[in-house]
Amino acid sequence: MANLTKGDIVFSRLEIEDRVAALARTISQDYRGHNPVLIGTLKGSFVFLADLVRHLDLAVKVDFARLSSYRGKISSGKISFLYKPRIYLRDQDVLVVEDIVDSGLTARSLIQFLEHEQPASLRLCALIDKPWYRERAVEIDYLGFTAPDKFLVGYGLDYNEEYRHLPDIYALPEKY
Ligand code: 5GP
Ligand code: MG
Repeated sequence: MANLTKGDIVFSRLEIEDRVAALARTISQDYRGHNPVLIGTLKGSFVFLADLVRHLDLAVKVDFARLSSYRGKISSGKISFLYKPRIYLRDQDVLVVEDIVDSGLTARSLIQFLEHEQPASLRLCALIDKPWYRERAVEIDYLGFTAPDKFLVGYGLDYNEEYRHLPDIYALPEKY
């Protein structure tokens, strides 16, 4: 396990807190009078989703989706569903809450699946955009940060299941 230092911090807990609160204000305004269903992508978005819902001035429902493509730091390119949302989505306002959009394959697959459920509306909120190696066009309706071309950990994001608990977001040093 790498010994991460303050110098490796890319987004501090204070910056994250401010950004999440601002996103929640925008989302609360846009969905006023609606009760959206939030679909968090496991496992990476669990901290972001937990913070986001507590800042929203809306009554929401929450479910999850789990898609798998990553092995360590490398995307396998193949996406499979490990868990599909069970909540009824037809005619609902569905908001996907993603941790990171990188190649765009995960978000695209999930959005395609959700479109089939015929929601009333479907939008994407992502904590982090990494647009450097995009393979599928993805429209992010609510974005926290654009990240440098680094592998990030902390605030729910892992490297081989380590580091998810850290309150700040770090860039993993290159040798890992
Ligand atoms: P995509 O399918 O867009 O290439 O990958 C999206 C998923 O890959 C994200 O939801 C996240 O779980 C994982 N991922 C992409 N970049 C990073 C990163 O820098 N750090 C971590 N921990 N996961 C990442
Ligand atoms: Mg993810």
